[in-house]
Amino acid sequence: MEKVLDVRELKVALRRDVHRSETEILKGVEFSIGKKESLALVGESGSGKTLTAMTVMGLLPENMSVKKGEVLLCGRDILKMSQQELRDVRGVKAGMIFQEPSSYLNPVFTAGNQIFEAIKDTSLSVKEKKKRCIDVLKDVGFTEDIYYRYPHQLSGGQQQRVMIAIALVNNPSLLIADEPTTALDVTTAAGIIELLKILMERYGLSLLFITHDISLVSNFVDKIAVMYAGRIVEITDAKMTMDMPLHPYTEKLIACLPERYNSGEKIKTIEGSVPDFHNLPSGCPFHPRCPYVMEICRKSEPPVVKKYGILVRCFKYGMSMET
Ligand code: SF4
Repeated sequence: MEKVLDVRELKVALRRDVHRSETEILKGVEFSIGKKESLALVGESGSGKTLTAMTVMGLLPENMSVKKGEVLLCGRDILKMSQQELRDVRGVKAGMIFQEPSSYLNPVFTAGNQIFEAIKDTSLSVKEKKKRCIDVLKDVGFTEDIYYRYPHQLSGGQQQRVMIAIALVNNPSLLIADEPTTALDVTTAAGIIELLKILMERYGLSLLFITHDISLVSNFVDKIAVMYAGRIVEITDAKMTMDMPLHPYTEKLIACLPERYNSGEKIKTIEGSVPDFHNLPSGCPFHPRCPYVMEICRKSEPPVVKKYGILVRCFKYGMSMET
């Protein structure tokens, strides 16, 4: 399958001001997304999901730097691009939507103005650009009048649809959605997910969906990659992840879902918390929270192995690849 996004061995470090020392935050992240394919990066806050997305968009903050790896977007390594090349690629090859649309929409411009300004094709006339804006507004479920509305005149769900329109106006190959439904009520969130499904089909889009909620994506994406402490610990197709989670962290994430409870059962949580990147536990970073911890887990980092066709990082499944 043709790859739209191919992230290889990505390592990103944070520079600490006081001592100028560096802490590695992404520790060799690897995944790929094919044409019209969708992948969800799932994990708790602080696992490195959003940082992965920001790196893919070439939007790393100044105190972060890429130490190693490749991020091939439609075959070109965005890590080797100049700032100008990155600006040209953003929106055209990949669009992004975020958790809080109100923080990204400019309150003094109408929705239509903001979609219009996002168009990168300089060969289009003003009339053609406006037509493109109206078309994309219709694609996200609006009528033309939304073009003239200001962000404060729109609900949270409508603002997110405008953000989707901005992200799609240049017809990108990849859409990155970073927790796009977290700030919305359940019904509105379900509407956004349904819309994304329709748009993937209509635009031939590939999707990178970032979420802390594995149940939200289990029936929606093709593949799930579970992240923990800057690493992908398990990656496979979504149904397989839900039916047969291999990594103990994935198993816990799924066991805590409300729909897995028997009636009268207490709410479950994963004991402990995501470790501080500046002070990671030795060996497997999940070992202080893991019910299956072994002596080796405290001393060494587990390698990636393949079990039942699933890529997993855990000593429970041995040390070498299945043949
Ligand atoms: Fe648990 Fe060990 Fe597997 Fe880490 S490597 S998840 S501690 S069993």
